[in-house]
Amino acid sequence: MRSLTGGRRMSKQIIDATVLADARLKSGDRASTANAAIEAGTPSLLPDYAVKEFKNGPLANFVLVHNKCGEVADLGELIAWCGSHFRQPHRTGTILEALRVATAGKQSTSLTRIKYELRIRIARAWKRRRSGTQRFSELACYRGEDLNNGLTYDDGANTFVLRRRKCDAEGECSMAVQIADRAEELQALVRAIESDPKPESKKRCSALRILLDPEGLADFDERRCRALGDAVYALLCPVDAEIVTTNVRDHEPLATALGRTVRAP
Ligand SMILES: [Zn+2]
Repeated sequence: MRSLTGGRRMSKQIIDATVLADARLKSGDRASTANAAIEAGTPSLLPDYAVKEFKNGPLANFVLVHNKCGEVADLGELIAWCGSHFRQPHRTGTILEALRVATAGKQSTSLTRIKYELRIRIARAWKRRRSGTQRFSELACYRGEDLNNGLTYDDGANTFVLRRRKCDAEGECSMAVQIADRAEELQALVRAIESDPKPESKKRCSALRILLDPEGLADFDERRCRALGDAVYALLCPVDAEIVTTNVRDHEPLATALGRTVRAP
């Protein structure tokens, strides 16, 4: 893929939550490809927003499966529960992935074993969430308790406790505050996706439009902050860096609108 450096890959890169999830939670080729991509960056920038997406998305789903293992009677009940999320494709994807990584390479398994494997993997993923990366674009709302203490283990209940602090805990969405004055770029992002019929793009578009409204910040809540999603990476990406994601298709129109490039790990 051509980049601003004329075809040469840029070594400075910004890592999104999909690559972080592959690197920290998955196994096999996906994990090694993602880890190699992170290590190749000089530097690999990891925005707080990506850690937040990782934690509230894939990591939360792994935690859900881990904790569910302690509630169901047997493996069959766990599998039935996993299948019950079919209306939420994103969630089903990571739930099945959690089952896969916890059972890979084993001829037989048990609930206890799956729960144990997930416990190790979740704890390690959280501990290593920033390894090999440089912290970038800190979010005021996300400092302190959430990042340092965002995941704990309750030894009595044998469950993980995931704290989800709202990004607008201090009255304003700190992501929105960082980008709200970039009207031209926000407009370019809206134009890039406004004709895309995907529900995700529709929500993203309306979140971007709210930011363009002078009164918009007051209405910008957690739900809209989440809807910004891929648009955040295009806005945060420095001119001399590329966005690394497993979801090139969704990132590309947004990144291109702001003159940035995207590549898969
Ligand atoms: Zn926010």
